[in-house]
Amino acid sequence: MVAEEDSGDLRKDDSREILDRITLVVNDTLATEKTLSSEDVLTAIDKGRSEGGPEGRHWVLDPIDGTKGFLRGDQYAIALALLDQGRVVLGVLACPNLPLAPIGKESQGSDTHQDGCLFSAVIGEGAYMQSLDGFSVVKVNVSTIENPEEASFFESFEAAHSSHDLTSSIAKKLGVKAPPVRIDSQAKYGALSRGDGAIYLRFPHAGYREKIWDHAAGSIVVTEAGGVVTDAAGNPLDFSKGKYLDLYKGIVASNRQLMPKLFKAIQECIASSL
Ligand code: AMP
Ligand code: MG
Repeated sequence: MVAEEDSGDLRKDDSREILDRITLVVNDTLATEKTLSSEDVLTAIDKGRSEGGPEGRHWVLDPIDGTKGFLRGDQYAIALALLDQGRVVLGVLACPNLPLAPIGKESQGSDTHQDGCLFSAVIGEGAYMQSLDGFSVVKVNVSTIENPEEASFFESFEAAHSSHDLTSSIAKKLGVKAPPVRIDSQAKYGALSRGDGAIYLRFPHAGYREKIWDHAAGSIVVTEAGGVVTDAAGNPLDFSKGKYLDLYKGIVASNRQLMPKLFKAIQECIASSL
């Protein structure tokens, strides 16, 4: 298992109280006869220390993707994917704060917010969404919009995670009329997979290296929903290199129809920003 977290912080002396609380929650949740000690919990967390790579199978886990959104009470995701020989073959994305209704069309005052969504995809079998309580499984498909003027795009809420200036110039060049939809975490991939918006743009600032757990589950949900996920030069994401993704400039996800125009705009904007 390749997971984002390890037990380092929890092993510090001043973390004793939170470790005790976590141990209680783990035992409550597992509800098995054998009670786990705090040390058992720490050991279990550290099972996620694999480095990944091109051989064998690896689970890839981000237990809380979009921590900033989680703390704000906005979007976050629990993201799990399976790599087989470095290729993503399965992904599950739980988005507890994402309504089942499309973004922008939630009915005011209803409790849909509490439902949350679970997206799942197996290679070659399509992408599906269900409510977090396991009901209403539906197949999802990316948007079929061809005209960029009608498209809306997703990006990080946090400007520190993706350049809002660059995406705004790309959107302008494309003629996108709608304002950006800024949400945290891989919930963006989930929302894209069901056609809430047509484009996801992510351009981290120079020097940042993307990690596989931030994209493995989300990208297979989008590709199995008929979408395309690449770097800014159109290369597919390569999950076989270990913990990091080596990318040209950033990540672009959309439908097949929009990709050619999107790349043209991206290349022009990157060239003029150099
Ligand atoms: P998002 O909510 O889409 O903005 O992305 C959340 C993820 O961005 C987190 O899981 C972090 O691993 C990752 N992240 C952290 N710092 C940066 C950074 N400087 N640039 C891009 N992504 C980052
Ligand atoms: Mg993350």
